[in-house]
Amino acid sequence: TVSVLYWHPAMVGREHDVRFIMDFSLYRIAKQLRLLGYDAECSRENTQEMVVRKARADGRTLITASPSQVPHIEKLNKAVREEAPPPQRTIIGYNSDGESEYADSEPDTDGPGGVINYIVINTNVKFDDQFRQVVQLGGIRWMPHRVFSRCVLCNILISDVPDKESIRDLVSPAVFDAYAHFYQCRGCLKVYWGMDSGVVVNFKALRTIENLKRFCIPASSDVSRHLLSLPRTIKVAIFSFLTVEELRTVGRAYTMLSGLLTAIERGEATKFVPDWKKAKMEERRAARLKAAAAGAAGPT
Ligand SMILES: [Zn+2]
Repeated sequence: TVSVLYWHPAMVGREHDVRFIMDFSLYRIAKQLRLLGYDAECSRENTQEMVVRKARADGRTLITASPSQVPHIEKLNKAVREEAPPPQRTIIGYNSDGESEYADSEPDTDGPGGVINYIVINTNVKFDDQFRQVVQLGGIRWMPHRVFSRCVLCNILISDVPDKESIRDLVSPAVFDAYAHFYQCRGCLKVYWGMDSGVVVNFKALRTIENLKRFCIPASSDVSRHLLSLPRTIKVAIFSFLTVEELRTVGRAYTMLSGLLTAIERGEATKFVPDWKKAKMEERRAARLKAAAAGAAGPT
């Protein structure tokens, strides 16, 4: 299955500062790109028309799931190429539209208002295949200092929280106690944690990372060893946030942890359930009982 239909070759060698734009139907792809630290504009407000306009104005690579957009983009690109001050142009023929084709050095048509680079993906294939193609064709690299540097909701860079007291009310008490370093989005104020100068300190972050890395150019990593080296209490704390299903997945990945994981699954390890979580569980149980009682005494 080929998930990319078109790709503009001008993208080769431009990978490092590549920025993207796509319409809201591709939000999942935007989120993954942001997790990797790439600038990926994807807003509900942007119509397809606006996406094309912004791609051109901002020099962003356009990702689209609509092959029907291609003729329009190509028309714009063609106009840009023809307007660009041509050095020596030689007409080498005429295409099917009767327009001239030139053999010349590629004119300088980059930058704002220039040629739109684009990737057309086929959304009928599995998401993994779609994203893998974006990574390969977009030249996405695994750069540890970039990962988790951007808010997945707002696409803006997140910044260090200098004093963690300032975000105390924005995270659960367990998380607040467990981590030393926090990051915050200045746009939506969402707080991030689990990543400390390239080192993963949280299992959820680890899972996301492993998932992302599968797509990227392999880089050496001691992520697994790092998880194993954490103290048992921290491991228990981290694993207590996982479902039974997830615990079993971890067990398959880290066989040396199977003893601990089984204990956690059976509730034999001192399972870490913070009070706020217990209260919530209790609340839900009460609501369920109440609903059941109401159902039993329902209309007859
Ligand atoms: Zn945000």
